[in-house]
Amino acid sequence: MANRVVIALGGNAILKPGQEGTVEAQLKNITTSAEMVAKIEQLDYQIVVTHGNGPQVGNILRQNEEAKDVVPPFPLDVCNAESQGFIGYLMEQTIKNKIEEASLTSGVVTLLTQVEVSPDDEAFKNPTKPIGVFYSKEEAQKMEKERGWVMMEDAGRGYRRAVPSPQPVSIHGVSAIVSLLNQNTIVIAGGGGGIPVSRKENGYLGGIEAVIDKDRTGKKLSEQVDADVFMMLTDVSNVYINYGKPNQEKLETITPETAQKYFDEGHFADGSMGPKIEAAIHFARQGKTSIICALEEADRALLGKAGTRIVG
Ligand code: ADP
Ligand code: MG
Repeated sequence: MANRVVIALGGNAILKPGQEGTVEAQLKNITTSAEMVAKIEQLDYQIVVTHGNGPQVGNILRQNEEAKDVVPPFPLDVCNAESQGFIGYLMEQTIKNKIEEASLTSGVVTLLTQVEVSPDDEAFKNPTKPIGVFYSKEEAQKMEKERGWVMMEDAGRGYRRAVPSPQPVSIHGVSAIVSLLNQNTIVIAGGGGGIPVSRKENGYLGGIEAVIDKDRTGKKLSEQVDADVFMMLTDVSNVYINYGKPNQEKLETITPETAQKYFDEGHFADGSMGPKIEAAIHFARQGKTSIICALEEADRALLGKAGTRIVG
C-alpha cells in the first residue's frame, strides 16, 4: 500500500514577507507548492495538505474591523473558516492543474476542518498569540474596556489582540479524509490550525475564540490519519543547532532523543522552530518519521536526500 504523508505548508508557501495579499501574489506562491505536491504524488504517496493562514486571517480581521459600522464583524472561528475556504479553493485548483499537467488522475478535495480543544486548556488563562490589526496604546486600552479583549505589545510594532493558543485534542472529519485518500484523492484539510471548537455545557460543539498552532494540528492530523511521514515545509533547508551563529551546524538524520536534547538546550526559537521540533519529536517517538525542510526540496527530503529528518 502507498505510504501516507501529511504535508504542512509554512507561511511563505502562500504569502512571502513584504508581499501584498492580492489573490495574484498568493496564487503565484501556491503554484510552487502545487508543483511539489504533484511531484510527491508521483512518488506514490497518499497526501494530506495542511497550511498556515496568519497573514490571510489577519486581513480578514482587518476587513471586519474597517467595515464594522456597515457589516457586523464575525468571530474568530468564522474568520478561520473563511480563510480555510478561500486558501483551500486556490490550492485545490492549482494542485489539480499541476496534477493534470503531469498526466495523473488523482482527485483533489478541500475539507473545512473543526478542531476540538479543551475548554479547560491552561492557554485560556493566558492568551499569548497576537493576531489582527495593530493599535496605539490608547486604542488598545479602549478595546480592553469595550470588547473585553486582552491586548499585548507586539515586538515594538504596536498593540494587538492576544488570543489563547490551546492544544488540539481531536480533529473532526478524519474518517472522511481517510476514505478520500483511499480513493486516490489528495485532501487539503486543517488549514490555519483548523476551526477552533469546544463542547459547551449542553454537550453541543460550538466555536471558540482561539487560534490553534498549525504545526500542532499537523501533528495531530498525522496521528489521526495514521500517516507514515509528517513533513513541515518552511523557508530554511534544515534545522540547525547554534542557528545564526558562526558555529551553526546543520542537522540531517537524527533520533527523537537527540532532537529532545537540543530542544532542552534551547537551540530552537519559541515562536518559529520550537513548535515544529516539538511536534516532530512527538510524532517520531511513535516509530514514525518527521521531516523539516525547504518547500523546494520536499521530494528530495522524502527520499532521504535533503532536509532534517527525525526518525523514531
Ligand atoms: P513557518 O511559516 O514555515 O511556520 P516560521 O517562521 O514559523 O515558518 O519558522 C521557520 C523559521 O524558524 C526560519 O525561517 C528560521 O528563521 C527560524 N529558526 C529558529 N530557530 C531555528 C533553528 N534552530 N534552525 C533553523 N531555523 C530556525
Ligand atoms: Mg510558524
